[in-house]
Amino acid sequence: MTIKRELMIIGCGPAAITTAIYAARKRIDVQIISEDVGGQVATTFGIENYPGFRYITGPELVEKLAEQMNQFDIDKQIGERVTSLSRVDGGYVAVDGSGKEYSARSAVVATGAHPRELGVPGEQEFRGKGVSYCATCDAPLFSGATVAVVGGGNSALSAAFELSRIASKVYLISRRQWRANEAPLIEGVKAAVNIEPIIGYVVERIAGEDVVKGVTVKPLEGEGGVRSLTLDGIFVEIGLRPNSALVKGLVGINDFGEIIVDCHTSTGIPGLFAAGDVTNVRDKQIVIAAGQGALAAMGVFEFLLKGH
Ligand SMILES: Cc1cc2nc3c(=O)[nH]c(=O)nc-3n(C[C@H](O)[C@H](O)[C@H](O)COP(=O)(O)OP(=O)(O)OC[C@H]3O[C@@H](n4cnc5c(N)ncnc54)[C@H](O)[C@@H]3O)c2cc1C
Repeated sequence: MTIKRELMIIGCGPAAITTAIYAARKRIDVQIISEDVGGQVATTFGIENYPGFRYITGPELVEKLAEQMNQFDIDKQIGERVTSLSRVDGGYVAVDGSGKEYSARSAVVATGAHPRELGVPGEQEFRGKGVSYCATCDAPLFSGATVAVVGGGNSALSAAFELSRIASKVYLISRRQWRANEAPLIEGVKAAVNIEPIIGYVVERIAGEDVVKGVTVKPLEGEGGVRSLTLDGIFVEIGLRPNSALVKGLVGINDFGEIIVDCHTSTGIPGLFAAGDVTNVRDKQIVIAAGQGALAAMGVFEFLLKGH
């Protein structure tokens, strides 16, 4: 088949947009295929840790990122979900939900992730109004407050520990004994006097008016009654689901479903890079996704330069 472009970028969150800006400035012929523009940032209430902005709302940051990208002549196919990506002679072919094909000599997968949800009443209603999925992002907003963290893995314990230094009281709600395996973290949580573990309980509902006011939890099994906790916020830290299904079988994927990349964002397959939350980069943040997006564009440029 005839390969149409030099680079296709799948996704249009901060990782993809940064790749696009870097690539376009290097005069690489880019096509973006994405379900939306902005990714998780578009649904974020407020951001205080993206350099250059003391505070910016998610939609405002998306507008600024898109404005910078749109100054370049980039073919954007928005509203398209890529269902598969495969390697062909001379490049890559992506197929969307309607069967339409896109081809390029190189590809950057920047399809991000979505946080796992509790699926309980009140969760959607109070999302961004006390319900958070990211302690690194939102913990400083809860100074002196009473909060709960849900989960028992490393990220939940890390969130509880971080919040114990900011909030006045932290409930740590988990279905079973903690799965966290980082000893210093476990010791830190145990030593924090304002963290109260609630083990063997699940969240039943999140309640509030304009914002979160509390939560009811019930025992997973056995005896013990439903408990109502008065809260200002609840952090759901039960994992992230990477959007990596489209490359299953093509690239290395770890046990968490993340695409395995090296420190240059290469998947190890010539011309195929991945950036942002869909990868095995340890921390998931906008600035990290953007940084990886820049690295991916550099890798693509070198790949094309060498005339593969
Ligand atoms: C509620 C919330 C608050 C947050 N707050 C902060 C914060 O304050 N500060 C911070 O640094 N980070 C924050 N984060 C994390 C941050 O949003 C992510 O780390 C960042 O958005 C990752 O960027 P990304 O480009 O890798 O992926 P995403 O932002 O997830 O973008 C992925 C893109 O890929 C597209 N896509 C996915 N699958 C497909 C497919 N199959 N075909 C085509 N397109 C596809 C999506 O539509 C989207 O455009 C927050 C996250 C959440 C959920």
